[in-house]
Amino acid sequence: MCAIMIGTKPKGEGSEVDRQWLEARLADYPLYAYEFITTDELVFADRVRYICEHECPMYNTTWACPPAVGTVEECKARVMAFKEGLMIATITEVSDIANIKETLDTRADHEAVTHAISRLIAEQSSETLTLSTEACALCKKCAWPDAPCRHPDKMFPCVESHGILVTDLAERHGIDFLAGSNLVTWFSLIFYR
Ligand code: SF4
Repeated sequence: MCAIMIGTKPKGEGSEVDRQWLEARLADYPLYAYEFITTDELVFADRVRYICEHECPMYNTTWACPPAVGTVEECKARVMAFKEGLMIATITEVSDIANIKETLDTRADHEAVTHAISRLIAEQSSETLTLSTEACALCKKCAWPDAPCRHPDKMFPCVESHGILVTDLAERHGIDFLAGSNLVTWFSLIFYR
């Protein structure tokens, strides 16, 4: 079973995201970069999931991570039900990127920006699916696996949990995610239809 909730709301026929409207609003956020993308340019790789399973301490600990999100094939089908999306990136300078706490502390601001932009896009579309960073940290202790997710409308699985090679996507769009040795870059993908 998978708890991913795709945000839905009734919309008039033919409604779609007004890029001009959205871009004007994106200027209000501290984004390093953003790009409109299509899902057919995404690369799904089993090796991304392998890293989740073998190297991430959050594996099997939240509804936002594998195995709760489903197999890579199921994740791919969920994403490919959308044609378009927006990739956003934020960048933060830290004093020492090897300091894991300092590096991870930059994530909260990125998540806040992702939530805000996801809400903006939801205003303009019938359905959204947002993938963001790391594991979900909304609850002190995740309900997984004993009970359903408490906030499925606010919970964003991480991009990697869906097997997506986000570095490939960033490179394809010319986003330099290795911009400096003490710069932390976070990515989110917001799909909409
Ligand atoms: S919202 Fe709470 S229950 Fe749902 S995935 Fe996040 S931490 Fe777990």
